[in-house]
Amino acid sequence: MDFDKLVAVYGELEKTASGNQMREILSEFFKKVSAEEINVIAYLTLGRISSEFDDINLGMADQMVLKAIAVAGGRDETKVKKLSKEKGDLGLAAEEIIKTKGRTLVPIGTLTVKEVFEKLHKLAGAEGSGSQDAKISILASLLQKSSPQGAKYLCRIVLSTLRMGVGEMTVLDSLAIAFTGEKKNKEFLENAYNICPDVGIIAGTIASSGLKGINKIGIRVGRPIKMMLCQRVENIEDIKEHIEGKIAVEEKYDGERIQAHKSKDKIILFSRRMENITHQFPDIITELNQNISAKEFVIEGEAVAIGKKGEFLPFQTLMQRRRKYDIEKYVIDIPVRLHLFDVLYLNGESYLEESYLKRIKVLEKIIKPSKHLVQAKRVITDDIEEVEDFFNHALEEGCEGIIAKSTAEDSVYQAGTRGWLWIKWKRDYSSEMKDTVDLVVVGAFAGQGKRSGGYGALLCAVYNEKDDSFETVSKLGTGFTDEQLEELPKMLNKYKLNHKSARVNARKEMKPDVWFEPRLVVEVLAAEITQSPIHTAAFDGEKGLALRFPRFMKYREDKKAEQATTAKELEQMWRKKR
Ligand code: AMP
Repeated sequence: MDFDKLVAVYGELEKTASGNQMREILSEFFKKVSAEEINVIAYLTLGRISSEFDDINLGMADQMVLKAIAVAGGRDETKVKKLSKEKGDLGLAAEEIIKTKGRTLVPIGTLTVKEVFEKLHKLAGAEGSGSQDAKISILASLLQKSSPQGAKYLCRIVLSTLRMGVGEMTVLDSLAIAFTGEKKNKEFLENAYNICPDVGIIAGTIASSGLKGINKIGIRVGRPIKMMLCQRVENIEDIKEHIEGKIAVEEKYDGERIQAHKSKDKIILFSRRMENITHQFPDIITELNQNISAKEFVIEGEAVAIGKKGEFLPFQTLMQRRRKYDIEKYVIDIPVRLHLFDVLYLNGESYLEESYLKRIKVLEKIIKPSKHLVQAKRVITDDIEEVEDFFNHALEEGCEGIIAKSTAEDSVYQAGTRGWLWIKWKRDYSSEMKDTVDLVVVGAFAGQGKRSGGYGALLCAVYNEKDDSFETVSKLGTGFTDEQLEELPKMLNKYKLNHKSARVNARKEMKPDVWFEPRLVVEVLAAEITQSPIHTAAFDGEKGLALRFPRFMKYREDKKAEQATTAKELEQMWRKKR
């Protein structure tokens, strides 16, 4: 196929903002493409030359593309640079330059999709010294052969800026329409895509062997499977509403999810985003080789950085292992432990359709636990109190929370799906303040719009017993009825000061429109206590405590300012929830 045919489709897609119209354009186009070429077309419509998980990087910097345009158009670089600045895009500059080059250079033949694809692969593969020149020369030769519009898109492809709004799902929909006549069949394509996240393969299969072929697509070791994800609930008790019968409660580790694939003697590790991260974890590869007794597998777990005593270290520490160089040093400096929690494939058999309990049983059989390779800790129960106990225990251990998993017959591995078979419950959710706090009003900000003439928000503080002072903790502007808002100035007028009370401890930057003598106490409910540099409550030298999403509940006229919540109490509440 001529590259210009694809270019014409790019042009149409670029002009439309409607998803449905895009599907129409693409499905009509796909119908005209041969089964041999459709995989290439599918990649190129996404601005790629391979599947997302393939380690192929076109990665050309602006400067290199600029040089290639200059070479192809027989212009000097400053001219291309100037044009690109004017147009705001190197693609548009290339289009313009190729349009006017005719006078100096004659195009050599027509460019085909196949040639573009092959040359781009060659470009991506160029490595080592001289690779920059090689890349520039490959792109220049493609640009010389292409039409002006083609040049525009070629540049955008190599720069990864071909943003037409076409995503994988648009391509899958369009393939379903083109080859089965119905968009609803996309479901089958999507299922296959979750197990084989490679649009090229999906496109080639549907074009050559229809839905029958699609439904036969299975696991291939070395090709990542889209990971199963979890839902979340409002209250821990709600887990019971979604998971019937026994619940498997596992610790939720705050690390990096890893899908490990072993075939014969080779192990590949994939991240949650399906990047190949094998080179980062030679230590995990050794562990898996030594302590998993299976020839072939796809298993999943969470890698966590650990300290000298085996304790969990924060996620940020693990992130230092995200590197290309000095790997061996970091293996020693930041050791990790892999907590395995699932088996997707074992010795020629898929376990995706097996129940959770069966998968776990198999996992237990093949793993020989070591210091750096263990199973996720779990308890199986139908008692929500036990779930809560396990959760508290998990937090004490340094975990992020728990994942409750269904153990029902149909508790399959739902690749690429955020379903109710797995439900997460994290520390953050439980830190919502159930108790209210009583705060002292120390200032106010003038209202705007509907609230002009009155107060828009109050500045509130907690009491510091030690210093007999009031430390600011929150602005409060929500939860008032219209009447309450109206009466606020009247209620507070008597406490008005023309300067900040000496008992109020506020940051210099905190500048309410009015200051009050600390008298009026209000009851406030907030979502969470956080740290903030703009408040002084329980100030640690850098940050104070603050409330997130505070809401006015009622006046506490029965309380004196000194009976308000103290900074110490607030700090205790904050520490308990951490
Ligand atoms: P979230 O990232 O908050 O949506 O939580 C889901 C993530 O928790 C998964 O992608 C895993 O990386 C991680 N995780 C930690 N422990 C487990 C576990 N026992 N089972 C499943 N996922 C876990």
